[in-house]
Amino acid sequence: MGRYTQATCRLCRRVSEKLMLKGERCLTSKCAMERRSAPPRHHTSSRRPKKKSDRGLQLQEKQKARYTYGILERQFRRFFAEAERLPGITGENLLVLLERRLDNVVYRLGFANSRSQARQLVRHGHFLLNGRKTDIPSCLVRSEDVIAWREGSTRTEYYKTLVEEIEEKTIPGWLTLDRQKLVGRVLTLPTADDIEVKFDGKAIVEYYSR
Ligand code: SF4
Repeated sequence: MGRYTQATCRLCRRVSEKLMLKGERCLTSKCAMERRSAPPRHHTSSRRPKKKSDRGLQLQEKQKARYTYGILERQFRRFFAEAERLPGITGENLLVLLERRLDNVVYRLGFANSRSQARQLVRHGHFLLNGRKTDIPSCLVRSEDVIAWREGSTRTEYYKTLVEEIEEKTIPGWLTLDRQKLVGRVLTLPTADDIEVKFDGKAIVEYYSR
């Protein structure tokens, strides 16, 4: 799967919102949005940025979701098509599907400082999903799924540091974590209310409905 290679902070500036793509750095004064929040190309211009049209705002919501989960348009559309097939509200279905991605769950369990780091850890085969090695970041977790570190990965320096730091991490209510063994479990599927960056799912649906 492809991924973004351009400057990450540029994506936040593009949608004028902190998307928290760089882990702890996002909480410091080094955050590019704290220093300069104007969208790229506007900061050097004396002209005021144009007011966004409805279509522009819908596009912005879609891009926010896409940048946050770090996926390309083609895969995002696949998630949207799946969300449309499911019963219920399409916009909420979409956000819940994105939240169920394995790389997101690894991030939400506190095993990584950002979703992009979580994606890399998954790709490198550090995790077992229900006892089986899984290296597909887009794999969707289900209720009662168990996410554990592979035995070889528990001998790495990264893991040893994580064991010391995990106490400070906050885990969302739909997941549970054994902080001694660093084994996570999905208690129940997330709802739209569990998603930490808020997107307007309705606007995303409207964007694709034209
Ligand atoms: Fe966005 Fe984080 Fe960069 Fe700030 S530091 S602009 S929140 S990615």
